[in-house]
Amino acid sequence: MQSKNLAVCNFCKGAESEGLEAARELDKAIAGMSVPFPMRVGYSGCPNACGESLSKDIGIVKIKDTFNVYVGGETKTLNASSGKLIMEKVTSDLLPGVVNQIVKVYQKNGRKRERFSHFLKRFGLDALRNELAI
Ligand code: SF4
Repeated sequence: MQSKNLAVCNFCKGAESEGLEAARELDKAIAGMSVPFPMRVGYSGCPNACGESLSKDIGIVKIKDTFNVYVGGETKTLNASSGKLIMEKVTSDLLPGVVNQIVKVYQKNGRKRERFSHFLKRFGLDALRNELAI
């Protein structure tokens, strides 16, 4: 099963200043990766977070010149909740690798058809953080 490509905000404040290039690199880093259940990944170019970054499996929010990365957002069921901050102030050169590693941990440790949010509850936020060798 393949991961979904990246969903992005509208870059209303300008593609360059809101990191369109970073979003493209991010998309390349995760496109087509095989995962236990399709993932939802969102990118927002500023803290308004119109790209629904906090409701996606992995969400990225650009804040000034760096990026905050959130995981585990859930919009469905009574367990709906916001994504949790897993890494902050990530530079643009490291961002694709960070997100790629999160997907790889899920690839390796997720059970067949286990949603990412369920995987994260079972695996643990701290355990995931420990796996990110950045
Ligand atoms: S997240 Fe920021 S840059 Fe992107 S559409 Fe919303 S307000 Fe505009």
